[in-house]
Amino acid sequence: MNELRPTAVVTGGSRGIGKAIAQALARQGLQIYLICASRLEAANEVASEIIANGGQASAFRLDVSDLAATAAFFQEEIRDKVDLAVLVNNAGITKDGLILRMKDDDFDRVLNVNLRGAFGCLREAAKIMARQRHGRIINITSVVGQSGNAGQANYSAAKAGLIGLTKTAAKELAGRNITVNAVAPGFIETDMTAVLSEDTRKAFAAQIPLGRLGAPEDVAEAVAFLASPGAGYITGHVLAVNGGMYC
Ligand code: NAP
Repeated sequence: MNELRPTAVVTGGSRGIGKAIAQALARQGLQIYLICASRLEAANEVASEIIANGGQASAFRLDVSDLAATAAFFQEEIRDKVDLAVLVNNAGITKDGLILRMKDDDFDRVLNVNLRGAFGCLREAAKIMARQRHGRIINITSVVGQSGNAGQANYSAAKAGLIGLTKTAAKELAGRNITVNAVAPGFIETDMTAVLSEDTRKAFAAQIPLGRLGAPEDVAEAVAFLASPGAGYITGHVLAVNGGMYC
């Protein structure tokens, strides 16, 4: 295994928080495999930037909610080809609506991508990391998985589920020297929050003790720490990156 290149798989790496995570992990010397849903061109641009800065990166298109496709990806691209040092389950979507009006499909799709998708990647990564006897898994949850949020029953349920998945996987995989942690961002400036009106953004900022929305890099630094050698004795933890916005 030693001759294989230490690699981080970052789902949702084409933009936003995942892009910043990919860049931060590349600075730690990891080869980066970026996964996106449809914007392969954007993911390829992120990979090109990493390569231009002296790193190694490749981009792949994979719908993480398709567990058979996920299994095939890990089998064909990862197993015996790289040293799978890190998995970051960052891919996520929102389909907001109040419970009384929420469509079945909107509930299912958010759970399928945000929770089932993370489970599928975690399971496939764990099979490989268990053979390697090392690995770091970091799940990107959310402050609303801890606090709830009106209009986000599907999203907050998926993110709360990710915390349960993190703690359970931490217990199951510790014996194989695999740590599993979660990072729970607050409100971060990305495409996901760009849809909010200026008034809503100001209202959110007013609730944040540090007085501003977070940047993708704020989250990426926390992920980079959990992936670093110094975090080797931390597992089953949920690290909030929310500007002090505790629930
Ligand atoms: P974003 O800008 O909307 O980017 C979402 C990323 O996920 C994109 O790379 C997208 O790929 C990918 N993706 C979506 N569906 C996918 C699927 N089925 N399979 C594979 N990849 C998929 O989101 P973000 O704001 O950076 O958020 C990243 C993560 O942080 C999410 O899990 C989100 O829930 C969480 N988070 C965000 C905030 C925030 O305030 N922004 C706060 C707390 C937690 P394409 O580009 O190909 O569509």
